[in-house]
Amino acid sequence: MALVDSFGRTHNNLRISVTDRCNIRCFYCMPEGPVQFMPRRELLTYEEIADLVRLFVTLGIDRVRLTGGEPLVRQDLPKLVEALRRIDGIRDIGLTTNGILLADQAQALRDAGLSRINISLDALDEAGFREFARRDGLEAVLRGIEAARRVGLGPIKINAVAVRGLTEKQIIPFGHFALETGAEVRFIEYMPLDAENQWERDKVLFAEEIRQILVDHFGPLAANSQQQADAPATDYTFANGQGRIGFIASVSEPFCANCNRLRLTADGKLRNCLFSLEETDLRSLLRGEGPRPEIDAAILAAIRTSVSQKKEGHEINTARFIQPLRPMHSIGG
Ligand code: SAM
Ligand code: SF4
Repeated sequence: MALVDSFGRTHNNLRISVTDRCNIRCFYCMPEGPVQFMPRRELLTYEEIADLVRLFVTLGIDRVRLTGGEPLVRQDLPKLVEALRRIDGIRDIGLTTNGILLADQAQALRDAGLSRINISLDALDEAGFREFARRDGLEAVLRGIEAARRVGLGPIKINAVAVRGLTEKQIIPFGHFALETGAEVRFIEYMPLDAENQWERDKVLFAEEIRQILVDHFGPLAANSQQQADAPATDYTFANGQGRIGFIASVSEPFCANCNRLRLTADGKLRNCLFSLEETDLRSLLRGEGPRPEIDAAILAAIRTSVSQKKEGHEINTARFIQPLRPMHSIGG
């Protein structure tokens, strides 16, 4: 039976975080200084993730996306992809990665059955990259993008977080990048999920402002008529039909009304929203004592309860908004 919440939204999409660790330190996500990472014993094993996904599938989940932290820092990620690929009912396995370790793993991921890949990249010059990531890495990411394309993991989506004061100078270069590489470049409005609590509305570069800068430089953008209703991004191409650009306007135009996503953290907590303040501990249920059918029934009931309690939407644009304690890297973006 499908996971329909009290606002009529059906959930078929599960984002699975496999680690809270990362090899860079994007300021909008992680702290700069020492981080208290989850102890290894608290992470779901690949077998546990697959067990949970098998249960989610019986509730209508048919798409999963692996994320983190940086998913490619977890050992043998292709093994998890392979295990998920073998689960009847999973139609699509995506990966969101910063791309730094991708060049070496792209082929194995593809062979394991990965369906699609999103690569996060906020700047196209090394100094700009460092402004976001507080580490070097542009060259490695570009090699990763090229490897993904070469092994057939296209169409590739590039995610760039849109931050006022930093992103403006990247917009035209990203427009050219989209035209030259065929990758879809998606600008994501900066959301209040940073570890250092520095987010302010004034720091968000809004989708409409970016669109205008692109139009002024490249000419009109045509909306993609094939767009899926539940997709968070609004997609465009340049007037000649080339170059794909997307906008995820999570702050200025929330898409909560069409949300079909649930999130499983690396330590086995189910979150019904990126911004939720409560979570459901599936790991404790999974590791509990008792006959397997009873454990499974308890997990299924807990998932249903969580979905039934999902709120109508995030409240970023209200004075009521409370930033979740978990920053993005420990939720799974
Ligand atoms: N490490 C991988 C990566 O960067 O692609 C996967 C995890 S990351 C948390 C997933 C996505 O969330 C990335 O595209 C990242 O840019 C985005 N993200 C992280 N913090 C964000 C924030 N505060 N606002 C908007 N997007 C954010
Ligand atoms: Fe790491 Fe991704 Fe967070 Fe950047 S956004 S710090 S790459 S987890």
